[in-house]
Amino acid sequence: GDHALQPGDSGKPNSSSDLPLESLNKVLTEDSAAGKVKRKRAQTPLEKYYLKYLCVTDLSTQSWCEQQMVYGRELPQLQAPETGVLLNTGKSIHLARELEVHDVVKVHTTSKEDSWAIKILNLLSVIPVLQAGGCVRELPVFGVIEDVFLTGIIDELCYSARGELELRELKTRGRPFMPSGAQKTKDYFQVCLYKYIFDAMVQGQLKPDVIPSHIQLRPEQPLGSQIREHAQKVGFTVNCFGDLLELMYLNLTLSDIPSIDCLKIEYSHQESKALLGTEVVRFEEEKVREKAQYYLAYWKGQREVQGVEIEEAWKCQSCSYSEICDWRKKRAEGPEQRSGPKKRIL
Ligand code: SF4
Repeated sequence: GDHALQPGDSGKPNSSSDLPLESLNKVLTEDSAAGKVKRKRAQTPLEKYYLKYLCVTDLSTQSWCEQQMVYGRELPQLQAPETGVLLNTGKSIHLARELEVHDVVKVHTTSKEDSWAIKILNLLSVIPVLQAGGCVRELPVFGVIEDVFLTGIIDELCYSARGELELRELKTRGRPFMPSGAQKTKDYFQVCLYKYIFDAMVQGQLKPDVIPSHIQLRPEQPLGSQIREHAQKVGFTVNCFGDLLELMYLNLTLSDIPSIDCLKIEYSHQESKALLGTEVVRFEEEKVREKAQYYLAYWKGQREVQGVEIEEAWKCQSCSYSEICDWRKKRAEGPEQRSGPKKRIL
C-alpha cells in the first residue's frame, strides 16, 4: 500500500535547530547610521519562540484563549495532566486509522531539508490516490496567510457518494457528549483553515520557492540516501530538495484535484469509541481570512496578547493558568468589573 514517512531523527517539527542565531537575544538591537545610538525593537512572538512557521492547531488553540495558548508555550508544566493523556490517546487512534490505509516507514534524515522532504513525499504519495477517487488520511498541507507559513495535517479526505471532496476531522472526547458551542467554534476554525490552505495548494499557490524562503531551506541541498531511495520506491527520481519542490508544485497543479466541497467533524467518545455526532461546517472565506489575520497579528507583534472577553470568562474556571493569569487579574481590577457585582464572575 501507500507509505507515510516518519522522520527517524532530527525531524521534530519547529525545532530550535531551524532558528537563526540572532533570535536568541531577548531584544534585537540595530545600530544607527552614526553607530552611536542603539535603537531597540521588541521581538515579535514568532521570534521570541523561535518559530519559522505555525501549525493550524496553534491558531485554533489561540481562538479558544490566546493568553492560555501563550501560557501553554511558556509554562507547559502547569497544564492539567489529563490534557496530555487525552492527546496521546487521540494520537494513537489517529495512527490506527492511518495504518488502515498505509504502512508507516521510518526514514533516517540527515538535514533539515530531509525532514521537509518527508512531509512533501507524504503529500506527493497521496495525490494519485485522490486523483483516482480514493480516500486519504493524514494529508499534510502547507500554505501562507498574511506572510506567515502554516502547516497542518488533514485527518481524512474522501469523495462522498455525490462525488464531492469531503474533509473529515476526527475528534476524540474524554466525556461521552458533544462539545460546547465554544469548543465547536474552535474546531470549525481549524477545519476552515485546512480548506483555505488546501484549496490554495491545488490552485497553484504553493510555488517551489515558498517553502525554502519561509523556512530558510536550500533547494540545492542534496537529499539523504534513504530519502532518495524511498522517493524512488514511490515513483520519483530526485537528487536535491529543489527537485521535490518542483514535483510537488507540478503534481498539485496538474492533477485536477478539486477544492474541498464539504467540511465535517466527527466527535467520538474515547473510551467506548462510540460516535457522539457529526457537525457539518459552513465555510465563509472572508470570515476565515479576517479571523486568521487577527490571530496572526499577535504573532507578528502587531498587537498585545488578549485573554477571553468577559462573556467567555467561564473558560477561566477550567483553565490551568487561572491562578497566575495577568489578563484575568487585570479584568478583575478593571473599570467594567467595578461597575457592578453582576459582572464579577471571574
Ligand atoms: Fe485565558 Fe482565562 Fe485562562 Fe487567563 S485564566 S489564560 S484569560 S482562560
